Amino acid sequence: MAANTEDNMPEFDISRPTIARVYDALLGGKDNFAPDREGAAAYVKYVPNAGDCAKENRQALVKGVRYMANKGIDQFLDIGAGLPTMENTHQVAQSVNPDARVVYVDNDPIVLAHGRALLATNDNTTVITADLRDPRDILDHPEIKELLDFSRPIGLMVVGLHMHFHDEEQPDEWVRVLLDACPSGSYLFITDFVDTGEPLQKGMEKAGLESLGNGWIRTPERITEHFLGLPLVEPGLDFLARWFPEEPDKEVPAAEDLKPYQRILMAGIGYKA
Ligand code: SAM
Repeated sequence: MAANTEDNMPEFDISRPTIARVYDALLGGKDNFAPDREGAAAYVKYVPNAGDCAKENRQALVKGVRYMANKGIDQFLDIGAGLPTMENTHQVAQSVNPDARVVYVDNDPIVLAHGRALLATNDNTTVITADLRDPRDILDHPEIKELLDFSRPIGLMVVGLHMHFHDEEQPDEWVRVLLDACPSGSYLFITDFVDTGEPLQKGMEKAGLESLGNGWIRTPERITEHFLGLPLVEPGLDFLARWFPEEPDKEVPAAEDLKPYQRILMAGIGYKA
């Protein structure tokens, strides 16, 4: 079964759930189909607050982009961008600096279809269909070359993506290729599912494996390795509800006082000196 949501748009296989559309369903979006909603229901079965996890992840994305934009970053490479939703990277970045440039990359063509409509009037932002597994293709993509200047710092974003790859695939090596192309002064922003031994974290993994066939949890030590040796900006790697890079001195709840669903994702930003 295929769906074509707009004229001249690619056709999508809507018979199976995709990561982008299940995530959209969890966020309460409308760009999803019945199998995606079933996939989202599998998440809710194991993690009743899975939708809140997705929303906290989006809030973390906003916090991270605003942090980097306020640090002077005016070029963002957002890998695994997802379907457009409430506040997207370009809107956050361009609210700080209207000239900020953003390239969204996603391997699901539905993101391109919906992104095009959103970005039709924005010359500083584009969306391309490409795969993190082929990082050199991303760097060689004509639209990336046109919009981003790799002699100047980049905000490299791999937000909510690592969990979809098994360690055996070595996702860090793909990110390394992208990071190597970014000059000093760049940032690497990551969120991922964490494993500190809690049953609900394991539930998130079970849900992902059941609905999408991926969605692994990792120890904080292993997530730290995603940053490829970069030092992390304050407050380091932490649960999303405790992570405020622009207010590192903000009073935040103790980790044990968070609700269990708030201990499923962690965020961090590495700085390339
Ligand atoms: N980054 C957004 C956020 O955090 O709100 C969206 C996260 S969503 C959970 C993960 C996104 O990564 C989906 O849109 C999915 O299509 C995309 N994705 C999955 N595998 C990918 C790959 N190999 N290359 C590029 N994008 C990928």
